[in-house]
Amino acid sequence: MPVVRLYNTMTRAIDPIEPVEPGHVRIYCCGPTVYDHAHIGNLRKYVCDDVLVRTLRHAGYRVTHVMNVTDVDDKIIKAASGGLEAIRAYTAPYTDAFFQDLATLRIQSPDIVCPATEHIEQMVEMVQRLVERGHAYESDGSYYFRIASFPEYGRLARLDSAGMRAGARVEVDEYSKDDVRDFALWKAHREGEVAWDTPLGHGRPGWHIECSAMAMHYLGESFDIHTGGVDNIFPHHENEIAQAEGATGKPFVKYWVHHEHLLMDSQKMAKSLGNTFKLRDLLTQGIDPVALRYLLASAHNRTQLNFTSEAVEQATHTVKGLHDFMRRLSEARVDEGEPRELAQQAEEARKGFFDAMYNDLQTPQALAALFDLVKNANIALQHKTCVTGDLDVVRDVMRDFDEILDVLDPGEEPVLDEDIERMIQERTEARARRDWAKADEIRQALEGGGVLLEDTADGTRWKRA
Ligand code: AMP
Ligand code: ZN
Repeated sequence: MPVVRLYNTMTRAIDPIEPVEPGHVRIYCCGPTVYDHAHIGNLRKYVCDDVLVRTLRHAGYRVTHVMNVTDVDDKIIKAASGGLEAIRAYTAPYTDAFFQDLATLRIQSPDIVCPATEHIEQMVEMVQRLVERGHAYESDGSYYFRIASFPEYGRLARLDSAGMRAGARVEVDEYSKDDVRDFALWKAHREGEVAWDTPLGHGRPGWHIECSAMAMHYLGESFDIHTGGVDNIFPHHENEIAQAEGATGKPFVKYWVHHEHLLMDSQKMAKSLGNTFKLRDLLTQGIDPVALRYLLASAHNRTQLNFTSEAVEQATHTVKGLHDFMRRLSEARVDEGEPRELAQQAEEARKGFFDAMYNDLQTPQALAALFDLVKNANIALQHKTCVTGDLDVVRDVMRDFDEILDVLDPGEEPVLDEDIERMIQERTEARARRDWAKADEIRQALEGGGVLLEDTADGTRWKRA
């Protein structure tokens, strides 16, 4: 099995992956907070996770990929008051939309998806363990992690304790705690908020405990890889380590992988800055989701990526070029023969691509190897210097690349809003002249593109399936 190396935020070095259980990589990826639609910046993070998981699988590892869904936290509670039913009614459409977005971007589903609200018991147990081991205390019905009890705190983010005290980024909330650095594990019930009756009292979990408790529940007390965006390093992941290692006394995670941000006009794309794009809005502008996947996957996960219309156009152009190339390969008529020079170049490209991917997911270098092969194959096709055996190898290598990239299948042409409106108008006209066959044909064509029609007294309404 080839060695896969990844940049580990904990060691600040590119470390070879040696899983706790040989041959089996257990990975936990911080998932979405479902209080709104994900934006394309959030989705970059899941494309990066997808590239990582696919690369590990390609290297021959069995991978268990767990992702949480944060369906209770401060933001959700601010948006939806009431009990669990109200919270679920509020978050369910965003959760569904999130998984639709993942599918649209061809992101493979995690093996286990765990919603926080279904794992309260595990979180409560973890807080109890922390209390028993002297790392947590109760105050006014809430529980806090006592940072002073865990001298390793700040190891991941490389904080010094003096800096931490002065640090503006320490979460401050309205609850009373012994030390300003301490963070909430469990929050006492407040009027109008969702709460659970538990041995800790009536209340709800803090955000950080959700991930530690669910990661350990599904992957064990010590596992291999934990991912997030760079903004998760502190305080979220620092707190996860404190909670998990405080509760078990064992190392929590071997390799911490953090993906860089997607930027808009050189600023992080973030809902709070109002500079976000949602995937569904981009699709209605006619942008090809495969091009978006390509764009998000093509930059190295540790470099920031600017989201610009030029970058989207470039990616669209590149992906179209790849589809044309695959068509040319399948339609090419060349002499029969055993593989020769082009096949050898293809094997070199295969090695170049996967050496780059196995070395800290260097997608730009991997893509350089791919485009070298495309160039060489185009020259060979043009000059008829290749034979069937060569093209078989080229196709095989391209398919191998696509195990990671997943951009070679063009997929369905997106149907634009204006096309839908026009087709509905044509159908209305067909119905008016009693041309039922034509009307049916149009309805079926729209359904094929995932558009459902409903005829009402006020005319025809439509929605995307
Ligand atoms: P949230 O749904 O807010 O919990 O965020 C989900 C994930 O998206 C987190 O792991 C963040 O680190 C990540 N994220 C948020 N904004 C961006 C961005 N602009 N670019 C890349 N990742 C982001
Ligand atoms: Zn998390």
